[in-house]
Amino acid sequence: MSKTILITGGSGFLGSNLCKKLIQDENIKIICVDNNYSGSFENVSDLSNNPRFKFIEHDVIYPLEINEKIDEIYNLACPASPVWYQGDKAIFTTKTCVLGAINMLELAKKNNAKILQASTSEVYGEPLVHPQNENYRGNVNPIGIRACYDEGKRCAESLFFDYNRIFGVKIKVIRIFNTYGPMMDSKDGRVVSNFICQALKNEDLTIYGNGSQTRSFCYVDDLIDAIIKTMATNDDFLGPINLGNPDEFTINELAQLVKEKINNNLNITYNPLPADDPTQRKPDITLAKKILNWEPKVKLSQGLDRTIEYFAKKINPKENK
Ligand code: UDP
Repeated sequence: MSKTILITGGSGFLGSNLCKKLIQDENIKIICVDNNYSGSFENVSDLSNNPRFKFIEHDVIYPLEINEKIDEIYNLACPASPVWYQGDKAIFTTKTCVLGAINMLELAKKNNAKILQASTSEVYGEPLVHPQNENYRGNVNPIGIRACYDEGKRCAESLFFDYNRIFGVKIKVIRIFNTYGPMMDSKDGRVVSNFICQALKNEDLTIYGNGSQTRSFCYVDDLIDAIIKTMATNDDFLGPINLGNPDEFTINELAQLVKEKINNNLNITYNPLPADDPTQRKPDITLAKKILNWEPKVKLSQGLDRTIEYFAKKINPKENK
């Protein structure tokens, strides 16, 4: 049976990977929606000739009218890295989270569509529980510089559950932990893309703070599999569900690994730690293992190799053809 799937944030890092995966199913039609603020149409331009793919430039802050029946919505639209979501973009980020959720939930309600919300490990803030499971309610600074994103995503979760309780909208809430891989933007300022691009350009690697903070990095293909599996769960499963790779690394360990892979002679520059930067982060994925029968397959070393290959071609397209 054919299905029409709408993906907001469809030309971003995760959205474009999701579009490319879903379009492989010939029964699926994709409507990709993006304002191209932190995403880029270029990420999905290879799909533009496919008759089952449509791109709509639109900002989810505003209501969206679609003249065909939609079966599923993946709501991924939001600047997701600190350099894109903070500073003078903070109010825009909150609006994207909150108004974007309302507008997409309204669209789901009208279409009787299933809707999945891309929430985040940031709802746990500076966690006092380690690893973080879905019952942990988090420790977010509501007035800090990350709050526009963290609180915006928390409010979106609450809107999803209220639309389910009040209108019976079929919802799924996933909490995505740090993810990396091809289609990441080199200007994102994320630690993986920064380190790889710096190393490929023979620049110092920039560590913020002393590098003892931890993150658990999930390769994008693993994450996309989990997202699609979550959408396919029974209607009575709403989430929230943690999706990520529980293998935890310090930022120092990550820098060492990137150096070993690209150039061991590179220097490291230590810069100040940004405010409210979480000290530790690691998902408890017991629920995902049980409900989705899923766990990540790609080890960090292997995923870094694939990501390095991607950025090497981007940075030096001629030499790497
Ligand atoms: N980070 C770093 N150097 C960089 C970019 C980031 O040391 O060039 C640190 C950052 O302070 C944080 C961690 O790496 O502690 C992960 O940062 P990222 O922005 O990738 O993800 P998030 O903080 O949203 O988890």
